[in-house]
Parts: sequence; C-alpha cells; structure tokens
Amino acid sequence: MKKFNEVAINKMETLIKELVEAYGPSGEEAAVRELIEEKIKDSVDRTFTDNLGNLFAIREGAAPLLMFSAHMDEIGVIVTHIDDNGFLRIAPIGGVAPHLLVGQRLSFKNGVTGTVYHEKIKALKELDWPKLYLDIGAAGAAAAREHIRIGDMACLHQPFVNLGGRYMAKAMDDRIGCAVLVEAARRLPGSLPQGVCFVFSVQEEVGLRGATTAAYRLEPDYGFAVDVTLVGDTPEAPLMAVSLGQGPAIKVKDRSVLCHPRVRELMIETAEKHKIPYQLEVLERGGTDAGAIHLSREGVPSGAISIPCRYVHSPSEMVDAGDVAHAVELIEKIIMVSWPLPDSGSGA
Ligand SMILES: [Zn+2]
Repeated sequence: MKKFNEVAINKMETLIKELVEAYGPSGEEAAVRELIEEKIKDSVDRTFTDNLGNLFAIREGAAPLLMFSAHMDEIGVIVTHIDDNGFLRIAPIGGVAPHLLVGQRLSFKNGVTGTVYHEKIKALKELDWPKLYLDIGAAGAAAAREHIRIGDMACLHQPFVNLGGRYMAKAMDDRIGCAVLVEAARRLPGSLPQGVCFVFSVQEEVGLRGATTAAYRLEPDYGFAVDVTLVGDTPEAPLMAVSLGQGPAIKVKDRSVLCHPRVRELMIETAEKHKIPYQLEVLERGGTDAGAIHLSREGVPSGAISIPCRYVHSPSEMVDAGDVAHAVELIEKIIMVSWPLPDSGSGA
C-alpha cells in the first residue's frame, strides 16, 4: 500500500527536489541555471543569460512589462586556507551561522565532500569561523590540494525529504521560488495581457547583486521578488505574524524595500478575488531582490510574494506544500491582471 507522502509525489515535487539538491553557492549558479533553462524554455518565447549569469525567460507582450525574480544562489562557504594536515579553513558566503554547520556535510562543485568540526572550545559562544575547519578526509596538504584550491566554494549536502505535506531540504531559499516561477510559467495560457519576464538571479545572498543588473537591463514597469520569508510559529520564535501553511505572504516591508502600495494592494485584491489564502508579511531582518529592483534607474514599483519557511539558512529549511501551490496560483493570477502603466511621481 502506498503511503500518503508517496501519493503526493508529483511533477512539481520532482522539480523542487532537483533544484534544492543542485550545487549553487553565490557566484557558482551555473548548474542551477542549466537546470532551470531546460525546464522553462518550452513555456516562454526566449531565454538568455547576462554577463553576471542571471537567466531571463521572456513571454513577449504589450506594455507594461512585469519582472518576477527568484534567486538561484544559496548560502555556502569558501576555502580560505589549507593546513599542513589537509584540513580546510572556511569563511561564510552569505548569512551562515557557524553553529549550524558543526557536524554537517558540505560538498564542492567537483563532488568532494567533507564534514565541519571545531577546535577545542570552553563554551558554545566561542564557536566562530576561526574555530571551524572542514575535513575532506585528505591525508595531508598535498592530497587536499589535488582536489581543492583556495577560493573553492562548498554548499550543504542534504537530500530533499517530503514529510507528508511539508518539504524539507537545504536551499529552499530560494530554489522554492525558482520552482514556483517555473511552474507558474508552465501554466500560463497562450495569450497574456502584458509582457512578463521571469528572472533567475545570481548573488542575492551576498547583496542582491544579480537583481541589480537584471532590472537595469530589463527596465521593467513592475517588479516582484519571489523568495522565502521567516515565520513566527515555532517554539519561542521571535514574534512574527507569518505561519507555515496559512498561504503565501504578500510582503509589506523588509529591510531592503517598502513595497509599493499600489502593487501590494493589487496583489491583495487578486488573492481575495480568487479566494487564494494569503498572509501579510513584515520582515524585520533580511531583504529580497525587490530591494534592488525598486531602486533601479528612476524607480520601479515593486512587491514580493514570499513562501513561509522555517529554519531559513539552515541545512533543513522547511516549507508547506499548500503554500507553494497557492504561491504558484497567486503569481499566475497576478500575471493575468491587466496592470496599468505606472504613473510617474504620484507615489501612493
Ligand atoms: Zn532568499
């Protein structure tokens, strides 16, 4: 007899699994990009990659142009030093808490895998990057250097797991956003009210860098980030009005952006009209690609659709399958709204 979570395996779940398990720390997004291009190319008119590695997937259409951006990169580490015994010293790429890495496995692009451990410490608070090392099982420096150079990057090595309606993996941030956009593109009808570009951006975790050049090149009329957000529904979590399973979140603000009221309200109206559950998100820490898009050129009215996620930037980021499905539906409906051309200068 099939278990519930085996029945639930579908095409999108396979896509999520492939995406989260791919290697792609900031600046090393090629494998993720190739995977996404393969999955999305039949759903759009054309795709191309820019100088930094952002992938654009375009459905041509009348003005205005909508830009949806999900980032391909994930957090990771970079090798800073190889000692005489073949142990690697590492520094973070993106916001990585050192204590979450202890005992974890990390993999490099060439497949070399190791585990993180730490030197002698008296108290956990002493656990900082200089105390950590990565052991790849090399018998000495020469053996380590055969496979690894200074500056090589590694990311978490963790399989995707379906917990029965909830998904757990590394790199849900933001491969789940990438999966949502690929699936939304696949479901769009033949004729759209306006042009849409799906951007799969690079280097978000180190400062929204890919989205900065992508928005500059594209000159969209409206921008939307699709990313994960934190939740307040775990034991003694910092107070936050977002929970897993209550629907995708329509962002009000984070540290990088105050979402444009017109964009935010049109998204809320769309969700209500189609009876799609949603939550309103005020994120006190962190930013998204919308932070870069809205400051592009003379300003782009921008918003964000967030997928609630527990344990962001850990080896086991967790999302709800219903939230993911509703995020796809909300984006589909947002694209089918006839957006007015933004009027300059009126603000709210
Ligand atoms: Zn993210």
